[in-house]
Amino acid sequence: MEELMKEASTYLDKKDMESIREAYEFAYKAHNGQIRKSGEPYINHPVEVAGILVRLKMDVTTIISGFLHDVVEDTPVTLDDIREKFGDNVATLVDGVTKLRHFEYTSKEDQQAENHRKMFVAMARDLRCVIVKLADRLHNMRTLKFMSKEKQIQKANETLEIFAPLANRLGISAIKWELEDISLRYLKPQQYYKIVNLMKQKRNEREAYIAQVVEDLKEYVQSVNIPAEISGRPKHIYSIYRKMVNQHKQFNEIYDLFAVRIIVKSIKDCYAILGIIHTHWKPMPGRFKDYIAMPKANMYQSLHTTVIGPKGDPLEVQIRTEEMHDVAEYGIAAHWAYKEGKAKNINNKFEDKLTWFREILEWQNETDDAKEFMESLKMDLFSDTVFVFTPKGDVIELPVGSVPIDFAYRIHTEIGNKTVGARVNGKMVPLDYKLKTGDIVEVITSKHSYGPSRDWLKIAKSSAVKNKIRQWFKRQQREENVANGKELIEKELRSQGISLKDTLTDENIANVVRKYNFSHANELFAAVGYNGIPAKQVVSRLTEDEKKTKESDEQEVLKQFPDTKNNSNHRKTSSGVRVKGIDNLLIRLARCCNPVPGDAIIGYVTRGRGVTIHRVDCPNIQTEESKERLMEVEWENNEEKSKEYNVDIEVTGFDRNGFLNEVLQCVSDTHTAINAVSGRAEKNKVASIHITIAITNVSHLHRVVDKIKRLPDIYSVRRVMQ
Ligand code: MN
Repeated sequence: MEELMKEASTYLDKKDMESIREAYEFAYKAHNGQIRKSGEPYINHPVEVAGILVRLKMDVTTIISGFLHDVVEDTPVTLDDIREKFGDNVATLVDGVTKLRHFEYTSKEDQQAENHRKMFVAMARDLRCVIVKLADRLHNMRTLKFMSKEKQIQKANETLEIFAPLANRLGISAIKWELEDISLRYLKPQQYYKIVNLMKQKRNEREAYIAQVVEDLKEYVQSVNIPAEISGRPKHIYSIYRKMVNQHKQFNEIYDLFAVRIIVKSIKDCYAILGIIHTHWKPMPGRFKDYIAMPKANMYQSLHTTVIGPKGDPLEVQIRTEEMHDVAEYGIAAHWAYKEGKAKNINNKFEDKLTWFREILEWQNETDDAKEFMESLKMDLFSDTVFVFTPKGDVIELPVGSVPIDFAYRIHTEIGNKTVGARVNGKMVPLDYKLKTGDIVEVITSKHSYGPSRDWLKIAKSSAVKNKIRQWFKRQQREENVANGKELIEKELRSQGISLKDTLTDENIANVVRKYNFSHANELFAAVGYNGIPAKQVVSRLTEDEKKTKESDEQEVLKQFPDTKNNSNHRKTSSGVRVKGIDNLLIRLARCCNPVPGDAIIGYVTRGRGVTIHRVDCPNIQTEESKERLMEVEWENNEEKSKEYNVDIEVTGFDRNGFLNEVLQCVSDTHTAINAVSGRAEKNKVASIHITIAITNVSHLHRVVDKIKRLPDIYSVRRVMQ
């Protein structure tokens, strides 16, 4: 603590120093009696974290938050206590850090790690929370040996995938290197210690060499009177490891284990020194990099060159100013260090580069409010993005204002098209619920959904999703479908050995179009093309007339035996279904799926109760056992239009005044009888209406559904199966 105070006093004033002392005492009291896994008093941890923040020359608010970062979660102290004692700013920061504790991370592929990093920063809102969290992580990594083996591996993985890259993005290389080296030590101890040993073996030899190089350089530099600080610099173990793995190199093939760094007063001097070095030692082609003229994305600046050194070995040299050095070490944190006007020019440079942070992260390209962003130091980077979880824990990035429909289509177009509802964090929500970062989103689909509603075009946020929805609507009229449908019908005719020429007459087609209630032949073909209507069914209608002439003979016979006729007719028309080749079968329509003419159907032979007609996709007949009892059936081609069938549909939408009435009015506008209605209001303003309607055939049903879907505030329409 005394060390920390001493270091802090080099850049903070008396008042700040007092606040720091108070924060220490506050944390000390709060954690009193708590012990870390290492056996030390708990207070050592927050003091170390605050110490790391002091070394980064962070502002006093951040340092205080470092002291207090664990009290809310681990002690009886509340956020309000902190607010009362240290004010709003500290309380907000501590709250932000506390929230990050619940950040969930699951080791996954690169893209996931990237999303987690983004989400982490997005959740922080204030960049300083991330910096406190990095300091916290750094100290926890330094004391990782007290944790269980399993925890060590988990923490090291997490650090390598999330926290070290974050430190790098923020330009805080001092933290980045240490996090990487410690992680490697726990993840690949063998390789880690092998490199350490090899470096040790070479050390004396190398150190003597570097000492020689530094001596030479000092002489050259002095001869031109440029003040410069020259030092040798060992490479970090993790970067050597990466080189060995990525470039398949042996340890002794990595020549730049050591490098030389030269720190000067001005940019002009940087180039002057470069010139001097290149006159004495030959530069290696292709190795010179001018990061002064072209700073790295994280604002890193330096001249890099590799020369053939005095012994004929390649030698890496970095040349930079003091300010550049601070930025290289502390990154974004240097901004706070220079904020108080100690070095106006570098601060101005930050101000010039208002887009800097965005560039670092390469995550956004909007720059409008960048100035405000820097002034408030708030993390509004992701003001236009939310990150939500799938139930499996994958992170999905969506624009702000996205709703479950956007999420569903992002997962898969077919899922989007079949969406009927959504749950967020386990609760049903309306489809226009605005998703928030951290939400766990689950989409409810139904294969009996009639597809997106036109209202979705207004609800969905993403234009890509809107396009997908529009496509769905277009699909029904697309030329392709027309052509495809024609082809399917022709194919079916051929396979049944029916003459195309005789059957596909204008008159015949017009008849069938009328039967399906289409207004144009192309609509019929398109419907077949996108599998709305089976080609087989259309063919059977096209060939109806031919069959009828055959049947009329039978009708004549029946007329003479009215009893038989009635009997037979009763059975047929009561269901409207004919079983191929068999007459006088007791036929009933299944109540579970309520098939209507036009549906693809199948018969199920019951034990002693005749045949029950189901829709082919009815879940009740999908079992292995029932497969043996299925038989082919088809709708009777009766001219009798009056026969009606009960169909259950479920409509969901935004629960507002008049919603139910509008839906019912809409159904009744189609001259469709409503046999039962029940409605209920779900939570979160979702209304769900269950209607039983009397339907003559599939195209009639489609007409009703389409009409309902055109109403405002409709989320979904689906046919219910029990
Ligand atoms: Mn902590």
